[in-house]
Amino acid sequence: MNDLIEKIRAVLDEDERLLRLQCPWPWKLNAEEDEVWAADDELVADAHALSSNQQRNTARFIVRFDPGRAERQIAAMRKILELHQPCQPPDYANAKGVIVCSTCGPTGNDSALYMFKNEGPNFWYPCDTMLALGEASGITP
Ligand SMILES: [Zn+2]
Repeated sequence: MNDLIEKIRAVLDEDERLLRLQCPWPWKLNAEEDEVWAADDELVADAHALSSNQQRNTARFIVRFDPGRAERQIAAMRKILELHQPCQPPDYANAKGVIVCSTCGPTGNDSALYMFKNEGPNFWYPCDTMLALGEASGITP
C-alpha cells in the first residue's frame, strides 16, 4: 500500500507547484467584500459585477482559502505522512510480513500477534489516518 503514499506525495507536490504560481498572500477583501486582493495589491478576484450575497460569500471563501492556508495544510499533511509510515514493529521481528503504521501500530480490536498466529501474515497499513489523508487528497484505495 506504499502506492497510497506515493499518490498522496504526488498530489501534495502538484498542489505545491500550483501554490507557488499564485499571487503573493495573504489575500484580503476590499471594504465592500466583493473583491479579493493579493499582498502586492494586485486584484485576484472581482465579484462586484455579480450581484447577491452568494458572490460576496465566494469572495470571502477565496480569502479564507488563500495560498497561505493551502501552504499550511500541505506542510501539515507532509508531517502526517511522515508520522504514518509502514514499518515492521520490533516486537514482531519473527512475524515476517506484518506491516503496521509507525505511529498507530496494529489497528482493530485484535492484537497483531494474535491475528498473525491465527491468520498468517497480515497488514495493518494503511492506518485510518493515512486513509483519511488519501481521502482528503482525492485518493481512494
Ligand atoms: Zn497511522
